[in-house]
Amino acid sequence: MRRIAILIVLLALSAFLVGCGQKTEPTSLPPPATQTYISPPALKIQPTDFVNLKEYIPTVEVELIYFTENNFTKQKLYDNPTAYLRKGTADKLKKVAEEVAERGYRLKIWDAYRPPRIQFKMWEAFPDSRYVANPHKGFSFHSRGCAIDLTLVNSNGIALDMPSAFDEFSLKANRDYSDVSPIQSANARYLEEVMVKQGFRSIQTEWWHFVDADEENYDVAQDDVLP
Ligand SMILES: [Zn+2]
Repeated sequence: MRRIAILIVLLALSAFLVGCGQKTEPTSLPPPATQTYISPPALKIQPTDFVNLKEYIPTVEVELIYFTENNFTKQKLYDNPTAYLRKGTADKLKKVAEEVAERGYRLKIWDAYRPPRIQFKMWEAFPDSRYVANPHKGFSFHSRGCAIDLTLVNSNGIALDMPSAFDEFSLKANRDYSDVSPIQSANARYLEEVMVKQGFRSIQTEWWHFVDADEENYDVAQDDVLP
């Protein structure tokens, strides 16, 4: 025991002697590090970025028709059931969702961003430029991520009575409403009114189709840019 005690004393002394030969610390030491956490700057989503619509607007119902075979091509065109839109367009749609909620309605999304390669498949199946954009001449605004196909559902999730089914290529889908019931006409007009008020434009041939009026902000995008 005594040897160990002597050893400890010798070690302490040598440490002191070694320390004496070194430079002294400055008298004003920096303050001790405090537990301050600085979060990294939040990554700002740009209006041109794509967002997952269901995550961005949780109240919307997403049922992408082209993820099923229940569409005019009779083929399942999409391999992903997620709806995407540009953030700038989704911001407008969020306002639409809030406004229709005042009447107890929610938005049901049938199509949003459509990858350009899908447009070719669609054109092969239905080469009529009144209803499908010819990809050899240019792409649909859906491929820019700033167009949307949608309808309204009530608080029970029941779709409102509209002039026609989605993608029904008949005159009923047309916005002249001459061959539809007053209720169907009123419902379609209401959807159009709110969409236009929040920054979309409608088209004459399809009551369900709307394009962001700021469409020039968005170029055709391939699906490898999706989040
Ligand atoms: Zn459309």
